Amino acid sequence: MKTELEIQKQLEADDLKYIWHPFAQMREYSRETPLVIEAGDGCLLKDIYGNEYIDGVSSLWTNVHGHRKKELDEALVEQLSRIAHSTLLGLSNVPAIRLAKKLIELAPPGLTRVFYSDNGSTSVEIALKMAFQYHQQADGGDPRKTKFITLKNAYHGDTIGSVSLGGMDLFHATYKPLLFPTIQVESPYCYRCPCGKNRSSCNYECFSQLEETIIRHAPETAAFVIEPLVQGAAGILLQPPGYLKKARELCTKHNIFLIADEVAVGFGKTGSMFACDQEEVTPDIMAVAKGIAGGYLPLAATLTTEEVYAGFLGEAAENKTFFHGHTFTGNPLACATALASIKLFASEKILEGLQVKIRQLTAALEPFIALSHVGDVRQRGIMVGIELVEDRKIKASYAPEVRIGHKVIKEARKHGVIIRPLGDVIVLMPPLSITTDQLDRLCAVTYEAIRLVTEG
Ligand SMILES: *Cc1c(COP(=O)(O)O)cnc(C)c1O
Repeated sequence: MKTELEIQKQLEADDLKYIWHPFAQMREYSRETPLVIEAGDGCLLKDIYGNEYIDGVSSLWTNVHGHRKKELDEALVEQLSRIAHSTLLGLSNVPAIRLAKKLIELAPPGLTRVFYSDNGSTSVEIALKMAFQYHQQADGGDPRKTKFITLKNAYHGDTIGSVSLGGMDLFHATYKPLLFPTIQVESPYCYRCPCGKNRSSCNYECFSQLEETIIRHAPETAAFVIEPLVQGAAGILLQPPGYLKKARELCTKHNIFLIADEVAVGFGKTGSMFACDQEEVTPDIMAVAKGIAGGYLPLAATLTTEEVYAGFLGEAAENKTFFHGHTFTGNPLACATALASIKLFASEKILEGLQVKIRQLTAALEPFIALSHVGDVRQRGIMVGIELVEDRKIKASYAPEVRIGHKVIKEARKHGVIIRPLGDVIVLMPPLSITTDQLDRLCAVTYEAIRLVTEG
């Protein structure tokens, strides 16, 4: 019989022996003892030794109502008693139908059709294939429209199509020979404004840049792709108010589709159900994933309008079919859980209750900017990015080998908080259900970790 400690050590050893972790330099990962999670409850995660941690990034931006949420557990088990999986290719299933109806009720008005997949990258691939194919074949289409306008610093996923739309050199440059080219616009990143402006001199030059690009490239462009309000993986970069609305107007005026990648921002993260809601924008195509099933199961959806949908209708022999579909598309367990999660938004008045927490978070973040290596503190809803800099005066970043973000999160971990950096940006994105005490603790521990690591 192995002792409990032997079992725990074996798990750690086997993690290092067998798993190739995503987005990890495995040599560095292997130098540290892995943190192995065994359980969770509410906004807490528990490791194999029974230590508890606040889940400060909602298990990579997915968890909405906390872990082991009774209603979600029950919905999942209930569905399990019926069927775990059946295909959506040629058949339908009950939770997929109910969820699609609910999503359309909830989504910005004008979105009428739901195409399922199972992760954010695929939901974006589907969006871009839809936009492209529409123009190749629809009556209202224009086959010359084959290109995409994207934002610098964009992140839309890790598959080749979604990487093509991306603009983060660190992740994307290696694959350049495999990617299709896009037309890239500078992203609004006010702290390091690409137009060289600051808050007082800004005259929304980024809006005009977008406008010029759209006008110049409209004849060849199928769609403009944007993470609405917040570029997440880029380091929680906030767009100036009105940017999204402006993008919508420009796209409509110059006849290109607006694709909104709500994978990160959807389901309450910016304070509204969808980020697009805040600027009363209906995109032509909207991708959702991460939080859709409450953070329980992989699920994604690409929503679109009747116009786009109609562009794919015809006799089978016309080959206008959308030839795309993943094996686990519309999985019943995931859809049933998603439905239960969405119902909780109404029954627990999640968005109403969230506003207080957002203000509490704003207040708790106020002291951070006084720390000598905090360059910028960005918050939209419950999404936070704290950008660390070596030298605040000249906004100089740390050398990558310093791994300053990593050091900070390791320090926070010692004090019962799990967060994950994006380079030198410390990200906080707790579940919407985080309690006020936990939120205060999350901020206090993060503050101390930054202070200790950067000011030592
Ligand atoms: C995470 C993310 C994706 C990719 O989602 P996966 O489920 O990891 O494939 C796409 N777009 C945005 C904005 C994201 O944050």
